[in-house]
Amino acid sequence: MNEIGHFIDGARVAGTSGRTADVFNPATGQVTARVALASREELQQAVDAARAAQVKWAAVNPQRRARVFIKFVELLNANMQELAELLSSEHGKTVEDSKGDIVRGLEVCEFVIGIPHLAKGEFTEGAGPGIDMYSIRQPVGIGAGITPFNFPGMIPMWMFAPAIACGNAFILKPSERDPSLPMRLAELMMEAGLPKGVLQVVNGDKDAVDGILEHPEIGAVSFVGSTPIAAYVYAGATARGKRAQCFGGAKNHMIIMPDADLDQAADALIGAGYGSAGERCMAISVAVPVGEATANALVEKLIPKVEALKIGPYTDSSADFGPVVTKASQQKILGLVEKGVAEGATLAVDGRGFTMQGYEDGFFVGACLFDHVTPEMDIYKEEIFGPVLSVVRAKDYEEALSLPTQHEYGNGVAIFTRDGDAARDFASRVPIGMIGINVPIPTPLAYHSFGGWKRSSFGDLNQHGPDSIKFWTRTKTITSRWPSGIKSGAEFSMPVMK
Ligand code: NAD
Repeated sequence: MNEIGHFIDGARVAGTSGRTADVFNPATGQVTARVALASREELQQAVDAARAAQVKWAAVNPQRRARVFIKFVELLNANMQELAELLSSEHGKTVEDSKGDIVRGLEVCEFVIGIPHLAKGEFTEGAGPGIDMYSIRQPVGIGAGITPFNFPGMIPMWMFAPAIACGNAFILKPSERDPSLPMRLAELMMEAGLPKGVLQVVNGDKDAVDGILEHPEIGAVSFVGSTPIAAYVYAGATARGKRAQCFGGAKNHMIIMPDADLDQAADALIGAGYGSAGERCMAISVAVPVGEATANALVEKLIPKVEALKIGPYTDSSADFGPVVTKASQQKILGLVEKGVAEGATLAVDGRGFTMQGYEDGFFVGACLFDHVTPEMDIYKEEIFGPVLSVVRAKDYEEALSLPTQHEYGNGVAIFTRDGDAARDFASRVPIGMIGINVPIPTPLAYHSFGGWKRSSFGDLNQHGPDSIKFWTRTKTITSRWPSGIKSGAEFSMPVMK
């Protein structure tokens, strides 16, 4: 049995808590590894190593810090196939999809190669007589990241790349479902020249997360996962005076206006709704055609496309998507599909009975398409996180706009239209963090920031892009005056510039 421990002070170490979790190959349903679940003592070892490394690392000049990422990006590219297969073997997504997961993280590593420029401060000469004023960005110290199962490459890199480039030491607590890739990334960072102790991987569950929240030396916490845990981590971190950014669940709508190219819209829905088995926080899970004619034509185009989707294990390069991550996820998704039927939605494509020949114990879910879903139904309100697309028919544009506006989540949304006025009005009025205009998954690139609104995000600085540099640094402002500018005598009134 493959035993996965932790990565502390530059090396893999075995877990010592005596607690472990099973790691599965979702395609076969077989246990492939056991991952250690850290105790508070093991977390403390990671913090000790981070503390010992951080001050020296912050003193390394920014070009040299950037060079670690130049080398790391080279290593990611050189090892891409192996890394993607490792990711797929524990997550279940296709190898091509895993490459996309890694590349979206790699792009943030490329972004932080610009750290000498990105983290520069500001300087005002002559802010007063003989006075200069400047602001510098200093690292927070020790940062932590808690990540979800669905992007085990991208999201750890979204966190550790800017944190480390800014001069912090970092403790990553990956998902216990697919911990192997994050461990490998830590090894590659060492190979790229990162000093030991700057990046640790502490595997674990709620206990490790609580340990991070309670640890007085961890100054900033970044979290991505489901909304209840995001809210818990945000509350726990900020109550202890830590900086926190916590990203939660989603229910992303795509509005299809009557003037949209329906073939393009249907293809977009198929990719964004079913890619990665719907296990993406930016997946489209609700299609909102405007007007009955649009709805009828769209559903007619969708049904054969959904029925034709090819499901397979990650080793099948022709599969459109693979299994979901765990048996519990599979059961939850199938339970929600049952609920949708009971609530009165029309199950236009029924994937419930799907089994994969030769992989009968795998966690597969057949593609499902619901029509005539209404906002009161649980299948509309809840994040299903599976290959299930719901069609909610809207009578006009205002009704369509009101759906994502009123939904509790606000991660991403898209509108498909040829009408520039409608698109502009929509982008301006909808209270959602990331908007696509004829783009179904509007995930911003590395040099813009990523984050939702409402209960999809807690905290006010987003992931990657300019926000990430602000999140992982603190501003210090220095006012200096040299003896030649100082008049003798004490000043007692509030200093103001005359
Ligand atoms: P999850 O909330 O179950 O787990 C996320 C992390 O929290 C894991 O590291 C896990 O070990 C830890 N955790 C789980 N239960 C905990 C508890 N009770 N106390 C403390 N820590 C706990 O999420 P998941 O199933 O791994 O990921 C899927 C979710 O993540 C979906 O809701 C998806 O929308 C969301 N997600 C959001 C974004 C975003 O940017 N908004 C991106 C990716 C995924």
